[in-house]
Amino acid sequence: TASGETSAPDTTFEPGCIFCSILRGTIPATVVRETGRTLTFRDVAPQAPTHLLVIPKTHVYANAAELAAGDPGLAAELLREAGAVAAAEGLAEDGYRLVFNTGGYAGQTVFHVHLHVLGGDALGRFGV
Ligand code: ADP
Repeated sequence: TASGETSAPDTTFEPGCIFCSILRGTIPATVVRETGRTLTFRDVAPQAPTHLLVIPKTHVYANAAELAAGDPGLAAELLREAGAVAAAEGLAEDGYRLVFNTGGYAGQTVFHVHLHVLGGDALGRFGV
């Protein structure tokens, strides 16, 4: 604006959301990459030698389908970040897995959309 004010950041935090607490800095995380709209940090309970989570810096979307419907550009940014961090972590050559758990049967526990990046060793197959 003419007065030099910046517009409000595109950020919504949810009380009680563990990822929003990481974004606010009230609980610690090992951050490995950050963009204007995304944060990537190490999973606290890794399920593979390298296990990262890529999240948007806003709580608005609970899962991948909601994110893709509501903000396809941000969905693409999460995927782009996953590829970038996988390459930076040395996973690109041998391969890695990207996972969006959605809902109870998939074991989703945090309803702030997040993309798992798993690699560093051969991974088991999917399934029940
Ligand atoms: P699940 O809990 O079954 O893996 P999600 O797909 O909802 O289902 O994943 C949430 C992920 O967040 C888990 O992998 C969990 O280890 C991770 N996590 C929970 N709390 C933290 C934290 N404080 N720092 C980093 N990762 C966390």
